[in-house]
Amino acid sequence: MNKRVLITGAAGFLGSHLCDRFIKEGYDVVGMDNLITGDLRNIEHLFKYKEFEFYHHDVSKFIHVPGHLDYILHFASPASPIDYLKIPIQTLKVGSLGVHNCLGLALVKRARILIASTSEIYGDPTVHPQTEEYWGNVNPIGPRGVYDEAKRFQEAMTMAYHTYHGLETRIVRIFNTYGPRMRLNDGRVLPAFIGQALRGEDLTVFGDGSQTRSFCYVDDLIEGIYRLLLSDYPYPVNIGNPDEITILEFAQEIIKLTGTNQKIVFKPLPKDDPMQRRPDITKAKQILGWEPKVGRAEGLKITYEYFKSLPKEELYKQEH
Ligand code: NAD
Ligand code: UDP
Repeated sequence: MNKRVLITGAAGFLGSHLCDRFIKEGYDVVGMDNLITGDLRNIEHLFKYKEFEFYHHDVSKFIHVPGHLDYILHFASPASPIDYLKIPIQTLKVGSLGVHNCLGLALVKRARILIASTSEIYGDPTVHPQTEEYWGNVNPIGPRGVYDEAKRFQEAMTMAYHTYHGLETRIVRIFNTYGPRMRLNDGRVLPAFIGQALRGEDLTVFGDGSQTRSFCYVDDLIEGIYRLLLSDYPYPVNIGNPDEITILEFAQEIIKLTGTNQKIVFKPLPKDDPMQRRPDITKAKQILGWEPKVGRAEGLKITYEYFKSLPKEELYKQEH
């Protein structure tokens, strides 16, 4: 019998890449999503496989999956600032009620569970680069609090199931990841800049652009997650690419990549926008033998080709 894995958030950017990976590895995959920020087109190529099933379901409500499950990967959650600011209550619910439902299901099925946490649990960090030991600097009642605190609660709940119930748990702290299947209009910086360049608009840098991020290509992230799931390490592990860049430099890179002559315009920095972010990946290297392989130049080229290949009307589509 094949190993069987439930992936929540399956129709999203990362969830759909995880579905691909597990199908490729010979698992039976149950995808679950309520499509609030996802898109069935990300997984439509999988419907031809008898090993793939899809449940249209909100994981903040009781989850019923017939049959055995070996693994659960909880990836359902809005992930971009404009998404979670638009649906703050659902964001808090999927990180709290949603993870509780997934943990309960894991217990019943005796499955191992991996949850998607985030570098956002470090907030606007005062320790740089961020190690897993750092507790973070989060404003609980600021606009980003709905996401950051949901994810912090999610980690606490997961550790409680591990210590109290002895559940096999894995926690991945994901740093900014990019690649094909990001939504052009999800507001995250990479699709925002590429969308602007393709439409011939100015690139909007928030603040003076001196804030930093460290961007990881999606294939590297998926490899790290796969290794973490199969490891025996129950505590949080950072997965990300430590190659740090300012947002202003990033805008300049995108202008060069797209061969456009767009100008850069400066807009106000959103409240509580973290000033610096870079993962310390010592743990991932030691425990998983993992480090990123795809440099930004290569990853951005692949991602740009993907965005260019989309139907033109996608470029002008409003937020849903
Ligand atoms: P995404 O928006 O593309 O995917 C999220 C998916 O979850 C969507 O398909 C959405 O419809 C689904 N979803 C949301 N609420 C749901 C609910 N209540 N029930 C069922 N499905 C629901 O975002 P993504 O970038 O793929 O992020 C996936 C996960 O990874 C999230 O948990 C996010 O917090 C985490 N993460 C992502 C990044 C990144 O850089 N992409 C960084 C850190 C953490
Ligand atoms: N950003 C920007 N212009 C945009 C969108 C985002 O300058 O059009 C900035 C944003 O303020 C932040 C960085 O890019 O400093 C990364 O933003 P994103 O939403 O991609 O990720 P997060 O802030 O969650 O790390």
